[in-house]
Amino acid sequence: MKFNTKTIHAGQKPEETSGAVMPPVFFTSTYAQEAPNRHKGHEYARVTNPTRTALENLLAGLEEAPHACAFASGCAAMDALMKMLRPGDHVIATNDIYGGSYRLFTEVFEPYGISFSFVDMRSIENVRKAFSTQTKMLFVETPTNPLLNIVDIASIANEAKKRNAVTVVDNTFASPALQQPLLLGADAVVHSTTKYIGGHSDIIGGAVCTNHDAIYENLLFQTKTTGGIPGPMDCYLALRGVKTLGLRIQRSCENAFTLAEYLTNRPDVDVVYYPGLLSHPGHDIARSQMNDFGGMISFSLSQDDIQSVETFMSNTRIFTLAESLGGVESLISHPASMTHASIPKKIREEAGLKDSLIRLSVGIEDVDDLRDDLDNAFDSLL
Ligand SMILES: *Cc1c(COP(=O)(O)O)cnc(C)c1O
Repeated sequence: MKFNTKTIHAGQKPEETSGAVMPPVFFTSTYAQEAPNRHKGHEYARVTNPTRTALENLLAGLEEAPHACAFASGCAAMDALMKMLRPGDHVIATNDIYGGSYRLFTEVFEPYGISFSFVDMRSIENVRKAFSTQTKMLFVETPTNPLLNIVDIASIANEAKKRNAVTVVDNTFASPALQQPLLLGADAVVHSTTKYIGGHSDIIGGAVCTNHDAIYENLLFQTKTTGGIPGPMDCYLALRGVKTLGLRIQRSCENAFTLAEYLTNRPDVDVVYYPGLLSHPGHDIARSQMNDFGGMISFSLSQDDIQSVETFMSNTRIFTLAESLGGVESLISHPASMTHASIPKKIREEAGLKDSLIRLSVGIEDVDDLRDDLDNAFDSLL
């Protein structure tokens, strides 16, 4: 099966009793047993729910994984993954990372004795230097957030294998429609299904897909034991949303490419960060490991002051000023004060994240309207 067929059919079959084409939303906490411990495969809904299973089967199909485990949020998914580690273990993570991941690693797991090195993974030399005998995991985000740096997944995974460390890729920005890290050698993929997979900005959800039985067993144990599971309605919405992933991503990429070129040609824009541009330093790697360049663009204004940024961002009508990304609607955000505020300013600036950076999540509207909207915002700066 090819990708667009999988987004609709992978692991799905009509419901047995009624033939319903979409899985029912199983609102239940428990399941009747015929005799003690004789049941139809379900005992208690923290452990399994058929609506959740339907979503997991589909996500596994999209990442070419034998296993997927759904969580209440992307953060809950990462939390479960990190709990595979033990005090003393060390993780090498991408430096330009989602703010919430940084907070989880440094404020929750470091106090429990797991150490993290945040390195610019565009250079494999930096990654090699960061290894210690305690390194158990490489945590990769690519394209990175919000600078859209590209990390070469295959070479990172290769390095990790030599050292017996696992490679985890946060694939939220690309989605499996654009990038399938397990096929490039990664051991697990984590998603915030809140974003492109759900695609409609109406749920919070997460998932891990893996081709390792041991990682999967561990995740099942985590969901059963700590209970960071998504409810059945959210699973249903994610399942409904993901069916149009291929179409949505295609349109987002087309729109983003058009807007990236438009921004590049504007004198009032300083730098445009979009991997689809030939001038982007990661363009060639993006071309080789991704099917297209995604719907996210960041840029900085020539007028590098916070007042101009605020004026610009308050003057878009179609681009809604909000955190998050990956929905059908276009959003505009200010990473330094919104998604990345939990990263100290000094560390943000070392990673190249200026206070004047603006991030766009380009939706599936008509691109002419999006361009007009940005035009108006630029006019407000005059
Ligand atoms: C949003 C996001 C997360 C966290 O996911 P939630 O569903 O909000 O918990 C993790 N990684 C990336 C890249 C994200 O954009």
